[in-house]
Amino acid sequence: MKKDFKYICDNCGRIYSIEKNIMLCPNCREEVIKGKPLKGILKVQLPAEQKNILIDGRKINISDFLPVEEKYFPPISVGNTPLIEAKNIQKELNFDKIYLKFDGTNPTGSFKDRASYLVSAFAKKSNINEIVVASTGNAASSMAGIAAAAGQKTFIFMPKSAPKAKLVQCLQYGAELIIVNGDYDTAFDLSLEFSKRTGFLNRNTAYNPLTIEGKKTVAFELYEQLAGNEIDYLFLPVGDGVILSGVIKGFSDLMFLGAIKKFPKIIGVQAEGSSFIYNALYKGNFDLNYKASTIADSISVNAARNGYSAVKDLKTAKGEMATVSDDEILYAQNYLSKMSGIFCEPSSAASFAGFLKLQESIDKNKTVVLLLTGHGLKDIDSAVKSIKFPKAFKADIDYILDNINLK
Ligand SMILES: *Cc1c(COP(=O)(O)O)cnc(C)c1O
Repeated sequence: MKKDFKYICDNCGRIYSIEKNIMLCPNCREEVIKGKPLKGILKVQLPAEQKNILIDGRKINISDFLPVEEKYFPPISVGNTPLIEAKNIQKELNFDKIYLKFDGTNPTGSFKDRASYLVSAFAKKSNINEIVVASTGNAASSMAGIAAAAGQKTFIFMPKSAPKAKLVQCLQYGAELIIVNGDYDTAFDLSLEFSKRTGFLNRNTAYNPLTIEGKKTVAFELYEQLAGNEIDYLFLPVGDGVILSGVIKGFSDLMFLGAIKKFPKIIGVQAEGSSFIYNALYKGNFDLNYKASTIADSISVNAARNGYSAVKDLKTAKGEMATVSDDEILYAQNYLSKMSGIFCEPSSAASFAGFLKLQESIDKNKTVVLLLTGHGLKDIDSAVKSIKFPKAFKADIDYILDNINLK
């Protein structure tokens, strides 16, 4: 790999060179993973000579801070997603600055493309042409799309319950789809065994360290888009907790590089019916038998795979967690669409729902950023629950004018 980029174990601190056969720390990993949070998560450590190199406000070239060289990047543009000032919402809620970071504009419609992009580049560099992933939907459709751009083949393990649009995306991109009779955890474990037997690169979230690393790029973009102005609050949705750790990793790197001096207040939002990390942080309860249930499929996970690391990262960054109900999510999704023109999927709306729930406790002059991670068209069956379809009108203009609301 690139000179001087290393892996460091989040648990024991051992250092490893970045190689295709190292996923979890060989010292800390557990032999039997079945449905549990992973032990020995590896993070990428930047070279020591990069310390404080951004202290004079030098312009960021993100690829300088990623462990794979630019020449291996897939030929498709990922990231650099828009940061939109939510003017109507600011006005209605009386806030000075609310920004929406909309990752639904990524090529496959979700934040997951940031991770897939780096994994695809790493596979190319390692001369592996096949990538394996287990997913509730977005990681799969993302890997399939990005790999298609790079001319790589994707093998996907998915539970039957995934929203149809996400299955269709996978097939459209030409991936080999293995729909598993069982839940996401079953798919996860099967995919690990499949990778082991075939030698194909595994992209499972948290398990492959480059998923966290790829997701950090959003922090660098926010830093640039806000011209270094401080973010006070950053709300983001949490499932397995890899976006959470990726974002915290991004801000940690920015601190190491000398660009910023402190973390924004990071608030991870989970659905009430999928609150493994919330429970772990506040009740110290890592319930390995936890069963999730929420309409927000992308954040519906039992024992979060990145659970141990996510809680540790939250403590380091002094972050918080919040939970919201499915009704609050659907309300937030619909309200956000009407007020901003951004239609995001339920899991993304969770971050907005979390903000709506906590807004009373936040000073109105603070800068708030909401991470919106996926496009609404990926799961219209959920969105349909908070809208009403009109009946068909008689084809008569007077009748129509009499029967619609013109305001
Ligand atoms: C995967 C996903 C999340 C949750 O990310 P984790 O890393 O699992 O916490 C949130 N929103 C969308 C749209 C996703 O696809």
